[in-house]
Order: sequence, then C-alpha cells, then structure tokens
Amino acid sequence: MPDLIQLLPDKIVNQIAAGEVIQRPASAVKELMENALDAGSSLIQLIVKDAGKTLIRVVDNGKGMSANDAKTCFQRHATSKIRGIDDLFALRTMGFRGEALASVAAIAQVELKTRRKEDKVGVHIRIEGSSIVEESACQTAPGTSISIKNLFYNVPARRSFLKSDGVETKHVIDEFLRIALAHPEVAFTFHHNNSEIYHLRESNSRQRAVAVFGHNYNERLVPVSEDTDYVKIEGFIGKPENAKRTRGEQFFFLNGRFIKNAYLNHAVTSAYGNLLTEKTFPLYVLHIDIDPKAIDVNVHPTKQEVKFEDEKLVYMIVQAAVKHGLAQYSVMPTIDFDQEASFKDFEAFRTNFSTATNQPAQTDRPAYTGRQNKPSAEAWQSLYEGSASEGNIVTVPSQWENQTELPVKDVESETSFIPVQLHKTYILTQIKSGIILVHQHLAHQRILFERYMDSFDQRSGSQQLLFPVVLHFNGSDTALVKTIIPDMRSIGFDIRESDDGLCRVNGVPADLVEENPEHILENMLEVYKWTAGNQKIGQRENLARSLARFAAIPAGRKMAPESMTSLIDQLFGCREPNVTPGAQPTYIRYSLENLREQFGVE
Ligand code: ADP
Ligand code: MG
Repeated sequence: MPDLIQLLPDKIVNQIAAGEVIQRPASAVKELMENALDAGSSLIQLIVKDAGKTLIRVVDNGKGMSANDAKTCFQRHATSKIRGIDDLFALRTMGFRGEALASVAAIAQVELKTRRKEDKVGVHIRIEGSSIVEESACQTAPGTSISIKNLFYNVPARRSFLKSDGVETKHVIDEFLRIALAHPEVAFTFHHNNSEIYHLRESNSRQRAVAVFGHNYNERLVPVSEDTDYVKIEGFIGKPENAKRTRGEQFFFLNGRFIKNAYLNHAVTSAYGNLLTEKTFPLYVLHIDIDPKAIDVNVHPTKQEVKFEDEKLVYMIVQAAVKHGLAQYSVMPTIDFDQEASFKDFEAFRTNFSTATNQPAQTDRPAYTGRQNKPSAEAWQSLYEGSASEGNIVTVPSQWENQTELPVKDVESETSFIPVQLHKTYILTQIKSGIILVHQHLAHQRILFERYMDSFDQRSGSQQLLFPVVLHFNGSDTALVKTIIPDMRSIGFDIRESDDGLCRVNGVPADLVEENPEHILENMLEVYKWTAGNQKIGQRENLARSLARFAAIPAGRKMAPESMTSLIDQLFGCREPNVTPGAQPTYIRYSLENLREQFGVE
C-alpha cells in the first residue's frame, strides 16, 4: 500500500491560513493600513468599492520596497519586522508575522506598485491565486499602492459568508476609524464608491477625535493624562451626560494599536461610578503606552487581544486617570428624567432583540406582509363585534401570545365612557367583555410601525420644518445612512446629503413635527445601527421599528381624552394590535368573569 500522507501545496496552505487573517474586507483594510503605517507614511489613502468586495486599495507615501522585496513580501512568513525571537519583545510595529500579504494574495487578485525614494523606477506586480502573473517596471510616486480586487473570488464559500454592503462597509469604516484615531499625526482619506467619506488632516489627538466624531463633540471631551514609570495614559473621555446607549465610541489603543479589553473597560466605567445613567456607555479614546516587554500581543492572529504582564496595575492606573480627568473638570451629571425612562425602554428593546432567536413567539411571528384590510378607526367595533368569546380569563403579559381574539368596544356606553389615564402611562378603558389597560407608548409603537411599513411603497408626504436639522453623522453611520435614505424618504423624511458629508433634514413625517426631530433621528439611527447586523429583519422593517420606537408617545406623558380614544381606535385598526413589533404586549385585558371571580361574586 502506498504512503498516504502528502504535504499540502503552498497555495492551499495559504488559502487555509488566510481564513484566520482575512475574514472580511475590513480585515484586509486593517492589514494594508497597518503596513502603510509601519512603512512610516504620513499620508494614507483608502479607496473602497462595493464595501471592499470589488476593490480595496491603500496608497501610502511610505518607504516603499525594492523590486525583490516587492516579490518576497507575498510569501508566507516574509517580514522585515523581526529577525529573531528577541525582537518579539521589543516590537513597535503593527505587523510582524509576515502573513497578511501572503494571505490576501491567496484569496484575491492583487496588484502592487511600489517605489523607494532612492530608486528611479518603481515595480509593478500582479498576483492571482498566489502566483505572479505580471511583473514590470513602472512610473509611480514614492511609496506603495496595493489593490485587492474581488476578495474571495476563488473561495466562493467564504464570499457567500459576507454580509450586505451596508454591514461590510460599516466594518470597513470601523477599522479605518480605529487606525485614524490611533494615529492623528498621519493624514488619511477614505473614498467609498467614488465619494469621499473622510478627509483627515494631520493633527493632534483632540482635533482628530472631533474630525472623526463630529464638531459637536469638541465640548463633550474631557482630557485624560497620567504618566507613570510603568505606563502612560493619554486621551479623552466623554462627559457622563453624553454617554450613549451603545458602545460604539469606546477605544483603547495600546502602543498605537486598537485593542479590546473588557477588564480595562471596567476600569473606566467604574471610575465614572454613579455619574452614569444605568446602561449607558461613556465615550473614551485612551492611548496606553507601555514598554513592549510588559505585554504579549502574540495571542491572537488579528492581535486585538493582549496579555499584560501586570494587568491589575494597568487597571488601577487607567481607573485613576479617568477619575482625575473627571475630577479636574468637575463634570457633574445633569439628570434628565425623560431620557432616563427611554433608556429603560431601550434595554427592554435590546433584550427583546438579543433573545429573539430563542423565543418561539418571535420566530414564529409571520413577517410583516402589509395591511390586508384597513378598518377605519370608527368602524372597528363593527369589524370585530362578536369575535370575542365570552368568559375570557385574565390575560397577563406572559400569556399574551394566547390573546388571539380582539376586544370588542363597549358600544352602549361609548358616549358616556371616557378612557382614563393612569400614572401618565396606562390607559384604562372598557370593552364589552371586561376592561383593558393599554400601554400608551407600546401601543403607539405598533400603530406607527404599521403606518411606516405601509408607507414604504406609497411615499408619504412630509411636513416641512421651520428650521431644517443638520445631521453630522459620525463615521460608520454615514455609510449606513446613505443606504437607508431612499426608504427614509418614502416614510416622509425630506432628507438630502450634501457634499460636505452632512445630511440636511428639511421635512419629517407628519407625526414627528411636535417632537425634537434631531433627538429622534439620532436615537433612531443608533437603534437601527445596532440592529443592522441582525439579518432576521430586513432594512425596511428595521427602519420602521427603530423610528416607531422613538416617535411613539413616551410613557409619562399626559394625554387628552380625545387622543386616548383615537389611540385605542387606531390600535385596534392594526393588523397585529396585541404586540409591539418587538413582541411586547401593547395592552392587558381583564375579563368580567375574572373580575367577578376575583371579588368572589357570582
Ligand atoms: P508583516 O507586516 O507582518 O511583516 P505583511 O505580510 O503584512 O507582514 O508584509 C510583509 C512585508 O512586506 C512587511 O514586513 C514589509 O516589509 C513589506 N510591506 C508590506 N506593505 C508595505 C508597504 N505599504 N510599504 C512598505 N513595505 C511594505
Ligand atoms: Mg503587515
């Protein structure tokens, strides 16, 4: 019998290994940009097409490569950054494994142009599936330009794992911003599908943070600086009252590299103590500088996790630095009770989503198919008359899914019965078979959700705003917003993007006029963004849900009797009046029979 074991060809080895280093376009962006930084560049340009699926190009003005290095760099374990094991403990560069370029060359069509300052001509190399298909001299500016085309073209299984362009673009922007925030001394530009998304000049770290997050962040940043023998901490934290409901704006950079570290995150949060409203996340951009000997970055191929030699000590110093920062600027929280209520809602919302896949009620729920019948608010009682069975039991939230029959309005007493608002949140009203308690915020969410879903194909009119709202989206939001603008328009937003990266909102759906549109839009987009990765619901449903959440009448607001009557009528004109789009009950019903039972009367 012949021997069975064979060595895998290099090409296959590289493709397999590439899986660890390059999971998606954003990973390639990170590797190329880090190489450009390692090459000492002062200007790095990122050009991306179709979320990086078609093209990722990084052009730098760094030190370039010799003709030989230009070929060698695509080989596995080809690196100029370490020579021996000792170098590992003194690393100041981003890369060192020599895997990135070998990996991309295995799974994409790669084109490299590079020239060192001292060379008269540069070199041009094209590679497909790890083999060089073209090599020639070329005219090119000093520095390096690498293009990665058709990522995963030869690994269809991986290509099919990529998410929508919106989601992949967001990942790309996240990587870009991490690098840009870590290196304010370097200028960066970013083009996506021929439009310029970022143009970041060489600057200091405050200017960079403001350029990335938006000009309104200048006053939100509190500087932090702590210099010890062991570690140096520099950067900014956000004022507690600006803390957001998502973690989007939290960055640790260790020796210039973005890292994730839950332990240090805890150090920051605990320093805020009770200055933070529950479940909110403060902004931070903290640069930690430490002797490379005191860390081991070699634990993960993409190097986002690190091991510290003395993690406790770093924790204490980070915590102290943040405390000092807060104390120095004597930042006091301004508590907004209205906001607080909506923070809680947001949590409930998140819980609903994160458990969505385990909840039979949620997964079994049919996708929104549009309103089949549109009962007028006045006609609802005749529509549903007689459909309620007698002798209902008390419907409590945990049983809401069994609540299939719709309540029948009590027609006889209609003229005399006025709904009552309790605790500025619950509306008590009478139905034929008992009483119901409607949650005003949740019920309104259902009404608005269905209205928005119905308006997508109809293009609703909008109410013009007296003072147009100008939105400056921070970073990755820009791309996301662009993908949903057409749908926002059909809901009734008169929204335009302008060349300066801002969005102007001149009009909003009619039901938003009284509210603060800026606040609603910011919140809505945050929730939208948060859910965008969730493929269970489509873009439109996500948009309708997110907007309904923030446009709905909040709990704690006084309502006039006529508004309450109209709210209840509209609720029962809905296709699925029982639940919010996020599957919370909109009302609770008590049957007459059960009430009698509870009181012990026949
Ligand atoms: P690593 O960064 O871990 O060394 P890479 O595969 O990313 O491995 O790159 C291999 C080598 O190619 C680098 O060590 C560097 O010498 C060279 N190189 C890559 N990108 C550039 C660039 N933009 N400018 C100059 N040299 C580069
Ligand atoms: Mg590298």
